Amino acid sequence: MARYTGPVCRLCRREKMKLFLKGPKCDSMKCPIERRPYPPGEHGRDRMRQGSEYLTQLREKQKARRIYGILEKQFHNLYVEANRQAGITGENLLRMLELRADNVVFRAGWGASRSQARQLVRHGHVLVNGKRMTIPSYRLRKGDVVALKGKSRDMIVVRHNLDTLDRQIPPWLETGAEGAEVTVRELPLREHIDVPVRESLIVELYSK
Ligand code: SF4
Repeated sequence: MARYTGPVCRLCRREKMKLFLKGPKCDSMKCPIERRPYPPGEHGRDRMRQGSEYLTQLREKQKARRIYGILEKQFHNLYVEANRQAGITGENLLRMLELRADNVVFRAGWGASRSQARQLVRHGHVLVNGKRMTIPSYRLRKGDVVALKGKSRDMIVVRHNLDTLDRQIPPWLETGAEGAEVTVRELPLREHIDVPVRESLIVELYSK
């Protein structure tokens, strides 16, 4: 599946908030949002005004897409699936996003950012229930065990991330094997998903 390959800090500036797409740089003073907290481009500062209802909904959707690194078509397909499921559509959507293999690798603290986590999956460093899994969008289920492959546990980047990120594991995941394994204990609830997205606005946008 395709992915966005352009400059990511522009995406944060467009949303006027930190989306934490770059790992350690996001917490440093090098983060462009610290110096230029307005949208990019020649007319960036003009875009600081409050927009219409549609614009607010659109921005919320773009923010969610950008946080999880998903292109429009795939995101819309997820919405359609979430809408078909029982329960609250917005919550279903966020749950599906959280259960992506690359997101779980990120949550486990093996990747500094979701894009780095995605690369770890693509390059075959991750096993799901003992089998190699190279599809970042693979949706995990309750009880699935995600683990780093034997040699991959000693990769410098992984060791560095585990030692320095100190990422809080959400309660729906359980760690094991000294941090090299996580189990999906239960499906994530909305209160356990700490993304700054108002999912109801995304549902309003797509249901027009
Ligand atoms: Fe966003 Fe991180 Fe870039 Fe800051 S450094 S603008 S938080 S991606």
